[in-house]
Parts: sequence; structure tokens; C-alpha cells
Amino acid sequence: LFVRVRALVRFKRLLDEWRIRGETARALGMTWDPMIRPPIEGARALVVDDWDLGAEAVQKTLAREDVLAARARSEAEARALVGSVPFDLIVLSLSLGQDDALRLASRLRAEDATRETPLLLIAEPEQKQLLLRGFELGANDYVMRPMDDNELRARVRNQIRRKFYQDQLRADLGQALEMALTDALTGLYNRRYLTRHLQGLLAPGASAGGVAALMIDLDRFKEINDRWGHPAGDEALRAVALSLRANVRVFDSVARFGGEEFVVVMPATTADDAVLAADRLRAAIAALIWTPVAGVVHPLSVSIGVAACDPGTITPEELLGRADTALYAAKRAGRNRVEIAA
Ligand code: GH3
Ligand code: MG
Ligand code: MG
Repeated sequence: LFVRVRALVRFKRLLDEWRIRGETARALGMTWDPMIRPPIEGARALVVDDWDLGAEAVQKTLAREDVLAARARSEAEARALVGSVPFDLIVLSLSLGQDDALRLASRLRAEDATRETPLLLIAEPEQKQLLLRGFELGANDYVMRPMDDNELRARVRNQIRRKFYQDQLRADLGQALEMALTDALTGLYNRRYLTRHLQGLLAPGASAGGVAALMIDLDRFKEINDRWGHPAGDEALRAVALSLRANVRVFDSVARFGGEEFVVVMPATTADDAVLAADRLRAAIAALIWTPVAGVVHPLSVSIGVAACDPGTITPEELLGRADTALYAAKRAGRNRVEIAA
């Protein structure tokens, strides 16, 4: 129950974020395609099971949804296939013969090509423990044998649809929108976009849970420009932008706010979680190995001010102002630090 509730909440947030981004785009005079319910026909699935009869039953069910299903009999076969074909769903039997289904699940989650691919487990009633471990490894849903055909179809449809929505959100803005609302150097959102987006998130009743803003400023950045030149400074900004984007969730927004200042906005996030996230971003940047010229490593670090609030309580300017004050405290306390607004 917990696993399914968590998946539904995540899906709801994805849709909320989509709606608010659409409102932002329209408010800025852009067109925005409403979220279409993506069709699942023609989606590609991989069924991993060494039991022929079981695998064929699943393939037949998928075929009734017009989902094309390939089959792998072993971990090795599965890994070879996912390396060459992009799948929209992987159905994995926990009874996979000599190969360890959980080991395969964890490898699928570790690899770039399959990290986000929905993973549906098939379990026998006595495999509850395995199933729980599968969820810890990142499986998205399960069905129990003996399988109910309609249940499998519904779960398959849900998982594929969620993936398509997530793909759309990731592909993000249309191109025209992108040029007006993003920063050319880093490809991140610009200040104009961010401020409007924050207005939507902070409107009374806009979203469940708190909204957090992280104000991020590079430490001693002038030194980088002075020592290595302005183009090298630009490179450092790009490296930091990339690292920020790689370390937030799909529904978080990362913007370049000014020269060497960035803002991350996190919906449905408490102050405590925002501080944890901020520290993860800080650590990721401190760990970057940035070489302004071949053979020389120049350390990069950021200071971060965090502020969080509930929708309907303060304006975007107030929230960002509080994050900025906390940032100032982080600078004074020695840099490469996270501070939270009082
Ligand atoms: P602190 O740790 O206190 O933040 O020190 P700092 O050196 O980063 O200080 P400050 O924020 O005052 O300096 C910002 C510098 O960032 C000044 C400016 O020349 C540089 N800068 C701003 N925008 C850009 C840009 O687009 N490219 C490059 N290369 N440098 C920029
Ligand atoms: Mg600055
Ligand atoms: Mg600075």
C-alpha cells in the first residue's frame, strides 16, 4: 500500500508541476500545449522471465494493449537488449531461474539508459520479502501470480503513461519559449521565468506542502576571472549549472538568477528536506574537478541560503529575500556552506 501511495503522490506532483509551468508560459505570453493524455499503443516493453508459459501470458496481455513486447530469458539477455533498444517498460519476474532478479533490478536502476524506465515486478505470493527489496531498489509496481489479466493491463497502462508524462516534462518547454525564458550561457531558466514560476507556486492553495528556494552564489568567483580569464569563468559557470541540474528532481526548477548566482525552487519540500538537498548540491560542486587549463585544477565551491514557506503566505520577492539573507550568513560564516533563513 505504501509503495503504491508513494507512486501516486509522485505522479500527482508531476502533473501539478506541468500545470503550473503551463500557467507560467501563458502568463508570459507564450503558447503552451495542454498536457495530452499520451496514447500507449506502440510502446515498447521488455519481459524478463525464463519460464516460457509465464512470459507468453504476459506478452499476450501486453499485445492486447498494442504494446510491443520483447522477451529476455536471462539477466545477460536482458542487459544486452536494454543496451540496444529504448524500452518504455520492463516487466521482471522475481522467479528468474539461476540469475538473480534483484541483481538485475539494481543494475537497471544504476544504468543511464534504464534508470527512469518503469519496472514492474511479477511475484509469487511467498516472495513478499523479495518484493520489498525490489521496491527498495526502485521498482515501480508489481503484480502477484496467479495474474489477473485486467490488473496487469491497468498497471502496465499506468506505468507507461507516467513515463510518457515524465518524458514530456523533461523535454520541457517548446523552443520559442526556451529562447525567451532561458539563459544562453548555461541553458538554465532565467530570472524572468523563475520569478513568474514562483508566483504560481506560491499562490494560495497552488500546491500541497511547502515551497523552498535555494539562493546559490559561487565563492570567490572574481578570483577565477582574474586568474584564468573571463572565458574560463564562463566555463566554470557552465560546469556548476550542469551539476545543479543533474542533482535535483524533475519537478524542481534551476535558474541562473544573475552573474554567478543561481536559484533552485523546490515544490512540495519542507525546510529540513531543502537543507539536505542544498547540502547535496554544495557537496557535488565541491567535488567537481574543474581544470581551467590542462593539468591545473581550480577548486569550485558555492554558498547556499535556504528559505521555505507555505503557499499563500509570502511573495516570491520575500522568499528570495530571505534566502538571500541566509546566503549572506553562509558567506560570512566562511563560504562552502549552507545556511537556513531564520
Ligand atoms: P564571494 O565568495 O563573496 O561571492 O566572492 P565573489 O568573488 O564571487 O564576489 P562577487 O559575487 O562580488 O563577484 C562576482 C563576479 O562574477 C564579478 C563578475 O565579474 C563575475 N561575473 C558575473 N557574471 C559573469 C559571467 O557571465 N561570466 C564571467 N566569466 N564572470 C561573471
Ligand atoms: Mg555574487
Ligand atoms: Mg560570488
